[in-house]
Amino acid sequence: YRHGEYSDVIVPTPDGLVTFGRNSPVAIVAGPCSVENEAMIVETARRVKAAGAQFLRGGAYKPRTSPYAFQGHGESALGLLAAAKEETGLGIITEVMDAADLEKIAEVADVIQVGARNMQNFSLLKKVGAQPKPVLLKRGMSATIDEWLMAAEYILAAGNPNVILCERGIRTFDGQYTRNTLDLSVLAVLHTLTHLPIMIDPSHGTGKAEYVPTMAKAAIAGGTDSLMIEVHPNPAKALSDGPQSLTPERFDRLMEELAVIGKAV
Ligand code: PEP
Ligand code: MN
Repeated sequence: YRHGEYSDVIVPTPDGLVTFGRNSPVAIVAGPCSVENEAMIVETARRVKAAGAQFLRGGAYKPRTSPYAFQGHGESALGLLAAAKEETGLGIITEVMDAADLEKIAEVADVIQVGARNMQNFSLLKKVGAQPKPVLLKRGMSATIDEWLMAAEYILAAGNPNVILCERGIRTFDGQYTRNTLDLSVLAVLHTLTHLPIMIDPSHGTGKAEYVPTMAKAAIAGGTDSLMIEVHPNPAKALSDGPQSLTPERFDRLMEELAVIGKAV
């Protein structure tokens, strides 16, 4: 697992290079769970950019538990992400669920996300490994650290050295107060096992907006290289993951709090 030569992942964005790595400022990825319409994605992009984020996140293809839940706007949402990118200069991170969509996703995405539910979709891992865009690999909700690193290994082995590991919470016995258990011990463990950069996602990790700031600060104290935070202009009306989404105002405050801790941009 020791990939010494892969220590930093450097991502070109319209605003310049952003480095994910141990000796760089914490890279901030923020935005809604799903891209819902042009006004909301552009507004969210402007707000998170003003607060200091480097990347806009937003799902076009959504892996929903229920087939009757909002599935994402698909290709048209990719066009809206392109508009938000053009408007703000932010980098774009969005999820691929089906390798057939990879090419058109890569036209707008600067980093391609493989979600928790696809962490061991080996054919998808081989495909994202065989294309040039950096890959954000989320930890499966029941994946061991070895399984997660081996999933990363599939991407590396296919020829793509630019993998970022994202902890987004795992399933434990107590789902009453938090959606998942955010496993911040990965910060200590992965520092000994791999040089791949680490991202922490306290939004999916807790499932509750009010818990996100505490865990974001804890992640920075633990040495994370990056944070992913869900932000929505009107969380109560969000089509997915509203309860865990920060308002732009709360995100502004969080960024100020993170700056005090240091290392954050
Ligand atoms: C997401 O980032 O919106 C998402 C679906 O995350 P995960 O794969 O971690 O559940
Ligand atoms: Mn989400």
